[in-house]
Amino acid sequence: MSKQRCPLCQGRGTTIVVRRCPQCFGRELRARRVARGWSVRGVARRIGVSAAFLSDVELGRRNASPRLLIALRRLKLLGATE
Ligand SMILES: [Zn+2]
Repeated sequence: MSKQRCPLCQGRGTTIVVRRCPQCFGRELRARRVARGWSVRGVARRIGVSAAFLSDVELGRRNASPRLLIALRRLKLLGATE
């Protein structure tokens, strides 16, 4: 699965659970969050992660953790089948 290319940028390094590279995943996540008018800090608090970690994920610097993905699905920031 790690050999798959990101469907959005054709880049390598898709994460195990999300079929997008960390950069595209983070960009989408940020766009969805901003569209709802939610702050990084506010979302991080609701999810139970640090704002720094969530920010790093949005910037594609770190991979989302399984726990974060579950929480994002619960907040509808990530679709159930994504
Ligand atoms: Zn990509």
